[in-house]
Amino acid sequence: MANKIWNKSKALLICGWCGVCQKEMLSNEGGWIVNAEKKHFCHDGRDGSCFDKYCEDKKNIAEDATYEGV
Ligand SMILES: [Zn+2]
Repeated sequence: MANKIWNKSKALLICGWCGVCQKEMLSNEGGWIVNAEKKHFCHDGRDGSCFDKYCEDKKNIAEDATYEGV
């Protein structure tokens, strides 16, 4: 549940992690997408926008979505 970590060595605030690739989001970096669920995604990931990927994945599981551990 720790969404915010103060990294003293870097003196950067980690705002969270990309919902797709788990990349850390640092407070001094831009390029993040935040959706209506307050999830964060890379705008410029290794294979393009992680947000686009997330939307694709969501579309694919929308028909028979199963939620575990909730
Ligand atoms: Zn990402």
